[in-house]
Amino acid sequence: MSGISGEIIIRGGFVVDPSQKIDGDVADIAIKDGKIVDKVSSAAKVIDAKGKVVMAGGVDVHSHVAGPKVNVGRLMRPEDKLLSGVSRSAMAQANGFRMESGFSIPSVLKTGYDYARMGYGFVMEAAMPPIHAPHVHEEIHDTPIIDEAALPVFGNNWFVMEYLKKGEIENTAAYIAWLIRATKGFGIKVVNPGGTAAWAWGLNCLSLSDNVPYFDITPHEIITGLIQANEYLGLPHSVHLHQNDLGNPGNYKVTLDSLRLAEGVKAKNKFGREQVIHSTHIQFHSYGGDSWANFETRAKDVMDYVNRQKNITVDLGCVTLDETTTMTADGPFEHHLTGLNHLKWANTDVEMETAAGVVPYVYDPNIKVCDIQWAIGLELGLYAKDPMRCFVTTDHPNAGPFTRYPRIIKWLMSKKAREATLDSFKHKDKVIEATDLHSLDRELTLYEIAAMTRAGPAKCLGLSSIYGGLAPGMNADVAVFDLNYKSMPSDPEKIESAFLRAACFVKSGEIVVKDGEVLSHGHKKTVWVNPKMKENPQVKRDIAESFNKGYYTVGLTNYPVREYLAPHPFVIDVDVEA
Ligand SMILES: [Zn+2]
Ligand SMILES: [Zn+2]
Repeated sequence: MSGISGEIIIRGGFVVDPSQKIDGDVADIAIKDGKIVDKVSSAAKVIDAKGKVVMAGGVDVHSHVAGPKVNVGRLMRPEDKLLSGVSRSAMAQANGFRMESGFSIPSVLKTGYDYARMGYGFVMEAAMPPIHAPHVHEEIHDTPIIDEAALPVFGNNWFVMEYLKKGEIENTAAYIAWLIRATKGFGIKVVNPGGTAAWAWGLNCLSLSDNVPYFDITPHEIITGLIQANEYLGLPHSVHLHQNDLGNPGNYKVTLDSLRLAEGVKAKNKFGREQVIHSTHIQFHSYGGDSWANFETRAKDVMDYVNRQKNITVDLGCVTLDETTTMTADGPFEHHLTGLNHLKWANTDVEMETAAGVVPYVYDPNIKVCDIQWAIGLELGLYAKDPMRCFVTTDHPNAGPFTRYPRIIKWLMSKKAREATLDSFKHKDKVIEATDLHSLDRELTLYEIAAMTRAGPAKCLGLSSIYGGLAPGMNADVAVFDLNYKSMPSDPEKIESAFLRAACFVKSGEIVVKDGEVLSHGHKKTVWVNPKMKENPQVKRDIAESFNKGYYTVGLTNYPVREYLAPHPFVIDVDVEA
C-alpha cells in the first residue's frame, strides 16, 4: 500500500505491539515510503517519542460511518449538531481544514479527523445495503485520512435464502462472490438473519427456529449456510454476525445457540484468520432476566463460552452513557425501540436485500437499565481471557459515538474510574446487585488494550500483514500517545485524554496529527476483496433473470459500483479453488 515518499524515525518510545509480542521495549520505529522498515538514513525526519507509548494505528472492526442509514440519521437529527462542541480549532481553521459537525453522527469530515486524532488508521463500515453501495463509496471517498472498507449485508437477501433453502452452498458462494465484486465490498455481514426479511411483512424472527414467511428457511439454516459459503470462498474475514433477538432480556440463550453453530467448523483462508464467526456488539446479546424489571447480566455465561471456543471472535459494543442515535439493518428492532422510548423513527425496506431503522436513544445514567447495559459491556471485556479475540467497539453510534473509545479504555484499565462512575448512579445498589462489575478487580494492561484495538481486529479481518502491527513491511500507521509505560498516571482521566488526542499519528508514512491537531488530509484507501471464481452459469442466469423480470427497479448494468466512485483502491484478490 503506497503512501508518501520520505523517511521518518520515531525515536525512543515504549513500543507496545502484540503482533510481535513486544510489550514496552524502548525501540525506534523506522519508516520509508509509507512502509515500516528496518532502518533509515541519517536524513530521516526525527519524531521524539521518549517517555511516550508507541502503537500501530488503531483498527476498528465495526462502525456505522457511511451510507444511507447513517445519512438518514444525520438528516433527521439536526439537534445532534448542537452537541458537537468546538468544531474547529484555530489551527485547523488557519490550515484551511473543513467544517466538522455532529456529535453522535458526525459528518464524514469530522469522522476522518476524529479517528485520526485518536490514532486510528482503518475503519470497517459495518452494514452496506448492496443496492446502495454507490452511496457508501461516495461517503467513504469524502472521509479524510482513514482507510476504510464496507461489509455488504447477506442475512436477509432473497438469492441467499432461495439457494440455502435448497442447501446449495456452491451457488450461494458464487452469488456472494459476484455481489462482493459488484459492491466493492469486503465480506459477509449478517444482521438479524431472516428477521429483517420477515419485517417486510411486519414480522420478526426471534429464535433460531422461527420460519421466514414465504422463504420457508430459518435463521439457523441461514447462519450455517453462510459460514459454509464463507469458508468455501476463503475470504479474508469470517461471517460477521449480529444475532437474532437483540436487546431483549433473556436473549443470551439465543446468543449461545448462534455461537454453537461454529462448533467443529475450521477456518479456511490464506490470511491468518482463525475464527469462523465474528460476533458483533455482544453486549446487546448478553442479557438475563425475562423483563426489564428483573433484567441482569449474563456476560459471564457468554464470555465463558467464547473463552473456550477458539474459532469465535467478538467485539464489545460498550454503552457510553450518552445521548446518541441507534441505526441498524435490524428493522424490527428499531420499530420495537421507538415503541419503548417514543422518539422519532425512520425505516427503509431495501428491495430484495435488507431493511434499516434509525431511532435516537438516551443512555441516561439515572436509569437502571442503561447502567446495567454499561456494566455488561465492561464485564465482557474484563472476562475475556484472550484479548486477541475481543475488541473495543461501541457499535458506533448505537451504544455511543466512537469518540468515546478512550473513555472505554480508561474504564477497562482502571477500577478507580469504574467505581467513580458506579458511585455517580442514582440506582447504584440495584446496578451492583444485577451485575458483576463491582466485584471485578481486573485492570487491563496497555499490551491487552493494543491487542483489543489493533493486533486482534486486524487479524480477525485477515489484514494482519498490513495493519495492526509495527513489523517491517507493514503499512506505516503509527500512533504515539502521551503516556509513560513505566509510570502510568494515577489519575485515570489522563489515560482518556492521552488516547483521545494522539501526540503524533503517522498514516501511510505521513505525519497527519501532531499534539492532537490534524495537519494533513493524508492518502486514504478503500480496501475491497475480489473473489475470483469459476463462472457459475446457473447463478449468472438467476441474477440476469431477476433484473429482467423487474424484481429490481434498476437495470443489471447500472447495479455495480463504478470505478470513479472508489478512486483510491487497495484490492485483495482471492483465488477460489473449486
Ligand atoms: Zn448490528
Ligand atoms: Zn452495527
